Amino acid sequence: MTKEEILEKLKDNPHYASGEFEVCNLTDAAIPGTQFICKCNICGHEWNAFLHNLLYLKTGCPRWQKHEKLQYQVMPKTRLSENIVWLNPEINSYKDLYEFECKQHGKFNLTYSAIQAIVNRNQVIKCPICRSIDIFNKRIKNNPHIKNGDIWLAKEWNGYDQIVECVCKKHGTFLIDRTNLGRGRGCQKCSYENSASSKHGAENRQQIIKLFEENPSASYEKIAEILGMTPQNVKHHAKKAGIVFKGRRDEKREKFLNLYYEHPDWTAAELAEKLGITVEAVMSRAKKEGIQIRRK
Ligand SMILES: [Zn+2]
Ligand SMILES: [Zn+2]
Ligand SMILES: [Zn+2]
Repeated sequence: MTKEEILEKLKDNPHYASGEFEVCNLTDAAIPGTQFICKCNICGHEWNAFLHNLLYLKTGCPRWQKHEKLQYQVMPKTRLSENIVWLNPEINSYKDLYEFECKQHGKFNLTYSAIQAIVNRNQVIKCPICRSIDIFNKRIKNNPHIKNGDIWLAKEWNGYDQIVECVCKKHGTFLIDRTNLGRGRGCQKCSYENSASSKHGAENRQQIIKLFEENPSASYEKIAEILGMTPQNVKHHAKKAGIVFKGRRDEKREKFLNLYYEHPDWTAAELAEKLGITVEAVMSRAKKEGIQIRRK
């Protein structure tokens, strides 16, 4: 038989006619026992087929069970996100790329194994650009500057740009790398100013520490007056410097000792009432100062 005759006869094989497989090394063949290499377009399998089987038994790919698995198990389980369509939804080859189209971002391809992996994970097939936009939006929701409303996106991220435009409440529009935005960065001018003001804060703190060391019993108000700050500010810096209790305790100690020296005959209950603290607190304070005092 000549090659042409074989090809003509192969048309009667429904598997071949439907394009299920190809014969790779077709030549003229002297005897029906000649073998040809065939390749399956559905599952990718290659096998040696007797010419006799191809032409008279009209066989196809021996792994046809696998084809059913592709078509009847993977296909029906495939779920698409609502903005995409599957352009070639027949599963016809392991190696083929399957083409999808996103309404916003155009065409994209997925391999069979990618589709299978998505189906196995029970996930929805999504456009890769839409997917990265979702991830980006989720990530920047946790950006503290965006959370606080200090900055916001000038416009929705398009899924492609590495540099995105944002708006700072204080400084207006600025550009930022989207990865940095995802990592929680914000306006550069703001961060520069903040670091400058924290430097200023460190100087204040040094001064406050020095003053507290020089006058351990000074009140916040006193220090605030000297430095031209508000007492709340002094308290804040003192707390940051770890000296918050020192100033306070000394104030209370001063009050306690003054009252005690004014009225050395008072009981703990009387002192407590006047100081607005508990009898227990008076007793422990007296003990610390080495003062003998009656409870009642
Ligand atoms: Zn096959
Ligand atoms: Zn898309
Ligand atoms: Zn700013």
